[in-house]
Amino acid sequence: MAKYIFVTGGVVSSVGKGISAASIGRILKSRSISVSVQKLDPYLNVDPGTMSPYQHGEVFVTQDGAETDLDLGHYERFIGVDLTQASNVTSGQVYSAVIAQERRGDFLGGTIQVVPHVTNEIKRRIRQVAGISEVDVVIVEVGGTVGDIEGQPFLEAIRQMRKDEGRDNVLYIHVTFLPYIAVTNELKTKPTQHSVNELRRIGIQPDIILCRSDKEISEGIKDKISLFCDVNKEGVIPLVTSETIYEVPLLLEKYGLGDFMVNHLGLDAKESDLCNWRELVNELKASKEPVTIGLVGKYVELQDAYYSVREALCHAALTHNREVKIEWLNSEELQDGHYDKLEQVQGIIIPGGFGYRGTEGMVESAKFARERRIPYLGLCLGMQTMVIELARHVLHVQDANSTEFDRNTSYPVIDLLPEQRGVNQKGGTMRLGTYPCHLVPETKAARAYGCEVTYERHRHRFEFNNAFRQPMEEAGMIASGLSPNGELVEIAELRNHPWMVACQFHPEFKSRPDSPHPLFVSFIGAAKETLIKGAQTSLPIS
Ligand code: GLN
Repeated sequence: MAKYIFVTGGVVSSVGKGISAASIGRILKSRSISVSVQKLDPYLNVDPGTMSPYQHGEVFVTQDGAETDLDLGHYERFIGVDLTQASNVTSGQVYSAVIAQERRGDFLGGTIQVVPHVTNEIKRRIRQVAGISEVDVVIVEVGGTVGDIEGQPFLEAIRQMRKDEGRDNVLYIHVTFLPYIAVTNELKTKPTQHSVNELRRIGIQPDIILCRSDKEISEGIKDKISLFCDVNKEGVIPLVTSETIYEVPLLLEKYGLGDFMVNHLGLDAKESDLCNWRELVNELKASKEPVTIGLVGKYVELQDAYYSVREALCHAALTHNREVKIEWLNSEELQDGHYDKLEQVQGIIIPGGFGYRGTEGMVESAKFARERRIPYLGLCLGMQTMVIELARHVLHVQDANSTEFDRNTSYPVIDLLPEQRGVNQKGGTMRLGTYPCHLVPETKAARAYGCEVTYERHRHRFEFNNAFRQPMEEAGMIASGLSPNGELVEIAELRNHPWMVACQFHPEFKSRPDSPHPLFVSFIGAAKETLIKGAQTSLPIS
């Protein structure tokens, strides 16, 4: 029977609740305890797939094709698990399911209420994760902060779980923030006290409080929190801002979180083995020669929109004993040939995106990469812009485009996937999740992977248009990764270029700190050979 750890947040958002839940998973895994993780999101959208990155940051795609919260990315990277759609539950999903049951007549005669109908559905979904994964512990993070109106049914459901599952099988962890007042040079505990009071009002007494803070936390502060919040002192655990997020499991373990959880839940645990993880963190913290990568996108002021891309670059750089330095370049500002910022980078990466805005700057960046022979990695939209650029500037078809950006283009090198024709519902209808990709021997892609077939996660509606395969191949493009029937171009690369490779899928979702993605590793390998500051300009333009 699985045990449950519930992680709630208080005081303010963005204090690292997702990283904490992921770190808890890593700590337990390091003691040979099997874990799965779930995020409960209180908003009414069915999934974040239709939300703007400005609202929500990155949409993380699971192997089974669910569009989920970016915290699932932390869980996968920290714990090394492949999660499924059951790992992200929203109020939208819960209410839709309950209302569908009501319409079917499942509750005939009954009045449908938040308690018990909505809370029962939430509990059913929590237990479903335990059922699917057959793990020892399910870690459940509740999105938002205590006190949010829409979060109440989730908190009520997790409160009931302690009675349902038995006190020894459930653990509540509350993540709070201790603000620092500079004039008096002190950390304040009052917001934490209020937040715990709010949690108690709902009926949840936390067993552990993780105190996020930008400063060291004294014994006196811990005593105070322990007294006012009625939590054992060993349960008051500092979470001081660290140099790298990957250090958090080590910090929490150092303060005894692992022992506390194992004892409280009576888990059959082995001794903690975080040696490899510690080595990884030491590597990440050690200063290294940088490799500078220009990331060209339209949401660059909001780096959460490209979370997995940033992490994948960092993991890959480590393989080369480098530290990645990302230049966040706004694609709208790169339009019209303002190349000066691109002159400063050793590699260009164009991540995924939707809609016309900013795409001209991405096409310009692809042109720059091709002409200056700078390594280029295109991810989904970044493959499409690479193809458009080639058609415009090598085949000289000025209006070549994707039909996503120009319905009337005379040269639709990128066009809607056939199965997307007639789709008019926006939510959850893209080509989503894992599909196989066959690598064409003797290509850069095949060399990067070192295997014949790879399985990668997708999230797109448009694809390379095979009607233009021949002219594009004559222009220097190689279709180096194909769907099993050979119809879908999954990877495209340039023949006469040191490293210009782009894929229709999102490799960034599969990169882990201890197992970086081969395409990113190969890209950084090529980038580190590039000299900065116009050094390439003397090279011939192909
Ligand atoms: N907008 C493009 C498509 O739908 C690219 C999607 C993406 O980059 N994820 O095909």
